Amino acid sequence: MKYKKTYYIITIGCQMNKSDSERVAAYLEKHGYSLAKSETKADLIVLTTCGVRQAAEDRVYGLVGKIKKKNPKGKLILTGCLSEREDVRQRLGDKVDLWLPISQILNFKFQILKKARNPKPETRNCDYLGIKPKYSSKFSAFVPIGNGCNNFCAYCVVPYARGREVYRSAEEILAEVRDLVARGYKEIVLIAQNVNSYKVKSQKSKVKRINFSRLLRMISGISGDFWIRFATSHPKDMSDELIKTIAECDKVCKHIHLPVQAGDDEVLKKMNRGYTREDYIKLVKKIRNSLEILNPKSEILNKFKIQNSKPERFNPVSITTDVIVGFPGETKKQFANTVKLFKEVKFDMAYIARYSGRPGTAAYKLKDDVSLAEKKRREEELIKILRRTALENNKKYLGKTVEVLVVGKSRKGEWYGYTETNKNTGIKIYDLRIKNIIGKFVKVKIIKARDFGLEGVYTKETK
Ligand code: SF4
Repeated sequence: MKYKKTYYIITIGCQMNKSDSERVAAYLEKHGYSLAKSETKADLIVLTTCGVRQAAEDRVYGLVGKIKKKNPKGKLILTGCLSEREDVRQRLGDKVDLWLPISQILNFKFQILKKARNPKPETRNCDYLGIKPKYSSKFSAFVPIGNGCNNFCAYCVVPYARGREVYRSAEEILAEVRDLVARGYKEIVLIAQNVNSYKVKSQKSKVKRINFSRLLRMISGISGDFWIRFATSHPKDMSDELIKTIAECDKVCKHIHLPVQAGDDEVLKKMNRGYTREDYIKLVKKIRNSLEILNPKSEILNKFKIQNSKPERFNPVSITTDVIVGFPGETKKQFANTVKLFKEVKFDMAYIARYSGRPGTAAYKLKDDVSLAEKKRREEELIKILRRTALENNKKYLGKTVEVLVVGKSRKGEWYGYTETNKNTGIKIYDLRIKNIIGKFVKVKIIKARDFGLEGVYTKETK
């Protein structure tokens, strides 16, 4: 029997990296590789890297050393955010056999592994998204709609690592979603660094210019029972038109991840975020007023005369965020404004990062003058507020019956999933006839609210 070459992929970082790895896997399988059990057994090891924080970068250095020690014959390909960083290339030297920016995967020729060289860039930054991926889930799929970012936030490496924004055509995205829905997928997660700045010209559609709002409507129009999620949105691109679309489209989950990054105007300006704290707070109020559609005073619903199609439905919206503590020069007074913003907005979840300077970014030139101990203290202060506000929001679910997408069963035998508002939910099932509901929508009556989750009792399978 002919020996089949094997591969193994290790992914660090965000949803976009996970999705990229799914495409790399499909590409390698198409070219005759099969999945190895571990990196130590593979002929080819792909490391999809993240350079957003120093800790993620350090993990890569550790992993490269370990892989090369345990599997010296395996060829190591490094892709992702660190693949184009000159200082990283010098540090790792020939421990890496091939440096491969993800957008160049289509140019990847297997024979070049004999010599460590880079393929020439010949394709657009998003052409590789046309590769049909090897999805890692059977019911929830990441569908990237573009790649790169034009915003140049002062702390962020993404515009350098992934290049400027480029978007996939609406036709290509719709074809991928249609295929997934036909195969029974229940959740489509549209991803890009900045989903809501999506803009393309279309030759085929009646609408010549398609923005993110239009794209959501087109995807919503595909028949089938599925949820649509998206991440990440930039506050400056969250238009009234988009909020109206989210309110009107039942399939679009009422969960908005809206990174604030700081609650102080001077810090926001230094970060180059393009909005003020007041703009952000007003935007959150508008979203809540519009999406919690039982609110008769909703500004946008009245403006656009939207009817609540399911008036009996319990309809909360959840707002989650990203925030950085200890940005260079952030004073205690400025941080106090972030604390105030947290108390006012009452987030459902927040991903709090201690600032870490990234080479090549504008902020890297500034003095990283907030001590690690102070960054940790600020992080803990925000976590305390977050625990309180998230619990307060979760208590609204008590006694309500909500739809949950079931994603697994714990070792203790408890089913779990999440709501359309992305609340992790433990599900108790007393009906012994229920055998396998992973990847299905079920109705769950909520009996317990915790800070970062809910607990409920299964009432029925819905779709
Ligand atoms: S919007 Fe800012 S933080 Fe987000 S990817 Fe672009 S530059 Fe980075």
